[in-house]
Amino acid sequence: MSASPPFRKLALIGFGLIGGSIARAARDQGLAGEIVTTARSAKTRARVAELGIVDAVVETNAQAVRGADLVILSIPVGACGAVAQEIAPHLAPGAIVSDVGSVKGAVVKDMAPHLPEGTHFVPAHPVAGTEHSGPDSGFAELFIDRWCILTPPEGTDPTAVEKLRAFWAALGAKVEIMTPDHHDLVLAITSHLPHLIAYTIVGTADELGQVTSSEVMKFSAGGFRDFTRIAASDPTMWRDVFLANKDAVLEMLGTFNEDLAKLTRAIRRGDGEALFEHFTRTRAIRRGIVEIGQDSAAPDFGRRHAPLGKKAE
Ligand code: NAP
Repeated sequence: MSASPPFRKLALIGFGLIGGSIARAARDQGLAGEIVTTARSAKTRARVAELGIVDAVVETNAQAVRGADLVILSIPVGACGAVAQEIAPHLAPGAIVSDVGSVKGAVVKDMAPHLPEGTHFVPAHPVAGTEHSGPDSGFAELFIDRWCILTPPEGTDPTAVEKLRAFWAALGAKVEIMTPDHHDLVLAITSHLPHLIAYTIVGTADELGQVTSSEVMKFSAGGFRDFTRIAASDPTMWRDVFLANKDAVLEMLGTFNEDLAKLTRAIRRGDGEALFEHFTRTRAIRRGIVEIGQDSAAPDFGRRHAPLGKKAE
């Protein structure tokens, strides 16, 4: 006889890239007796029902969370507070409530006040994604060998934290715990600022007078192509990220602008030594990322996703 799953009922609010990937991986790994989901629009709910990945698709957030011992919000950061307020009266005692938002301080501030005594709030952020969104974009292998950061508020029941840690580990993720503020600072430089730069450079190229947009597309392999992939990320999600993580992003942007000014000066003065030294340092950082398995040294064309349990290429 197989052991009973760690969760009786998993309620997923939102079924896009992240919610859909959690559903697929949790089903494959047998992590819940029942997976029930809902999404904001009837169109998405109909598509999720068609996909046949979950046990039930319901119309409202309240219906979804009833009797669930794990509730995960996989919706834009800016919507988390209102949804927490809406589901609060319907949560089962002892339920673990979590989210996947890319910003943690604002989500904790928006959600925590609504959640009733006797439930356990354990915010999470899987640091994994693609530029795709919607119910068809998810895949079970998304979290394999990626970090998932948990930011439980002080005093959270350690058993609830451990249960969520084990859940993410079973989806293939490596789990780390930190404070929401520290998370937001780390992600501002590793994720939010790179997205802002990509959004900027793709917009700049689009507005150039001297180089046509067909030339930009034609010669994009020179580096621009990688920025366009990042700049294709969901506009709603990223609008919310920059609004919610304003302070940390502005702090990192200040430092970035100073460094950009230094490189600008080096180019203007023909200071090859300064440029060479800078590029040598950044090359070492890239090699470090490859060495710890956060990316592959292979060219990024034609990489495949590894099945659960195997290392990504
Ligand atoms: P997504 O593919 O666009 O899916 C978003 C889901 O949220 C959809 O089911 C959508 O429903 C629902 N939704 C949208 N607005 C809503 C609202 N106001 N109220 C309730 N539900 C709403 O987005 P995603 O990429 O999965 O991102 C979801 C969360 O994951 C975000 O908080 C993001 O910060 C975080 N995250 C994303 C990534 C990434 O790379 N994409 C990585 C890590 C974490 P409809 O389809 O019916 O509109």
